[in-house]
Amino acid sequence: MNNRIFGSRKRIAMVAHDKKKKELLEWAEHNKVLLSRHELMATGTTGRLLEDQLDRPVKKLLSGPLGGDQQIGAMIAAGEIDILIFFWDPMEAQPHDSDVKALLRLAVAWNCVVANDPATADFIFTSPLMQQDYEAIVPDYSQYLHRSIEK
Ligand code: PGA
Repeated sequence: MNNRIFGSRKRIAMVAHDKKKKELLEWAEHNKVLLSRHELMATGTTGRLLEDQLDRPVKKLLSGPLGGDQQIGAMIAAGEIDILIFFWDPMEAQPHDSDVKALLRLAVAWNCVVANDPATADFIFTSPLMQQDYEAIVPDYSQYLHRSIEK
């Protein structure tokens, strides 16, 4: 098993669908001090709004529907993100629903910590594990990678 260390300064990716942006900004404002200890990245529009709200730099990726969700998914797969705060809208279909599904799938595939609502985010952020190193299990895909393919 090939584990991965989440350092005490966590790498946190944040994404919110348009009708959930206000909720995310309010949650972020409420948790501003805790968030200041960690590295933040976000999809383009969410990142711009978070920068204004928190008055600190946030690494901005492409806007979600334009590839940002996929960038975050790729970073999770590459072991570059520890926590995903993703407030997705359960009441509205998105033009990039397939990307949303892909992002949620990769987060589970790589044992990334995920919050999809403020209550879960609160539980994560009050965990003592936020302030210390954490050794996360990286699922073992070696059997899959070495499966035999008929030629
Ligand atoms: P946005 O993307 O932050 O660029 O609006 C969010 C999303 O994935 O819908």
